[in-house]
Amino acid sequence: MTPTWWAVVALVALGIVLTVAAVTLVPWRVHSPTRAERAAALADVPAGVVTRGRALHAALRPSSYGSLLVGLVVPLLLGLTPAGARIVVWVGQPFGGHWLAQALVGGLVIMMMLWLVALPFGAWRHTVLRDYGLSTQDWGGWAADLFKGSAVGAVIGAVVLGGFYTLTHLAPDWWWAFGAVGAAAVVVLLSFVFPVLVEPVFNTFTPMPAGPLRDELRTMAARDGMPVRDVLVADASRRTTGLNAYVSGLGRTRRIVVYDTLLREAPPGEVRSVVAHELGHTKDRDAELAALLGAIGAAAAVVALYLLGQWGALLRRAGVNSIGSPTAMGLVLAAVAVAGLVSGPAQNLVSRRVEARADRHAVRLTGDSAEFAAMQLRLAEVNITDVHPPRIEYLLFATHPDTVERLAAAR
Ligand SMILES: [Zn+2]
Repeated sequence: MTPTWWAVVALVALGIVLTVAAVTLVPWRVHSPTRAERAAALADVPAGVVTRGRALHAALRPSSYGSLLVGLVVPLLLGLTPAGARIVVWVGQPFGGHWLAQALVGGLVIMMMLWLVALPFGAWRHTVLRDYGLSTQDWGGWAADLFKGSAVGAVIGAVVLGGFYTLTHLAPDWWWAFGAVGAAAVVVLLSFVFPVLVEPVFNTFTPMPAGPLRDELRTMAARDGMPVRDVLVADASRRTTGLNAYVSGLGRTRRIVVYDTLLREAPPGEVRSVVAHELGHTKDRDAELAALLGAIGAAAAVVALYLLGQWGALLRRAGVNSIGSPTAMGLVLAAVAVAGLVSGPAQNLVSRRVEARADRHAVRLTGDSAEFAAMQLRLAEVNITDVHPPRIEYLLFATHPDTVERLAAAR
């Protein structure tokens, strides 16, 4: 069998494994509120909260769609015309056209281009969030975060590009096999190791002062079978008024992290509900599930990319000889952009099911659905959430059930 046929076999096998994993491991059976239950829950939300959430959502819409559009159009322009190949060849010239220079410098230049076209939309979004009082960051802080984020992105990008093009260079016919394994490993690494390393770049953590709330959270975690070493407070108020908490670390390093905003805004009972939801994610191994599905998906994407590279007309259009060449980076980006757009709604659907299960866990663990509902209303009010977004946007973008659904489920 030729490498191409092996790739076809691998892609079919990965497709089957992904389907089986998604069907059996995603909590499809968690109750979804009916239309009547949702209508009843909507009546519980104060009119002011509904209006304000809708208004913010409408104000953000142009920048959301704008960045979505340029994030698709620019890669397509780079990949479906010879433009991307010309840029990579051009920036590689001072280095004698060496493939590694093309990969790293070309990659950096193209990443910066994508970053620059997205920048105005990010700035626009920041303006809106500031107008609504949701962001507390001045432009200096915003720019500093942007800089840190792109520095982290550049490091990861360089490792991924360097690794990928070393493989395509050394194993022109079989890179997809090693690449699939590598991509799966990168997903797992980014899911578990990366958050622990990157968290401190953006936030400072301090132990929660001893007191009844800290004891209560620790007791609740232990009762849930997941003892935590620490309860930490993140200085999120530096950038946002938004409320959140999460559980990070594994086993003995496991800790609860609570935003300082949440402690300031919400009474202890509601903090408990938020933390109980996060404990649900840990207990049901939702991060592991996301990493598993993501790893299989990434492996399949690499194999699919190789097979896409067998399409001669597409390569000619991009002005390249092989999809494994750094000059075809634009074409790879175009494929990644399209794949992201297509798979996004499916990933969000899975995410919403997992979130609904964590909500159910929170209500069961605290035994207090009224507190959970109060917490949802507070989150909607403080985070200025659209409590019941338009259906199409819900399907495309929502990673969580909307507020109305979560309230209805809690009832
Ligand atoms: Zn969650």
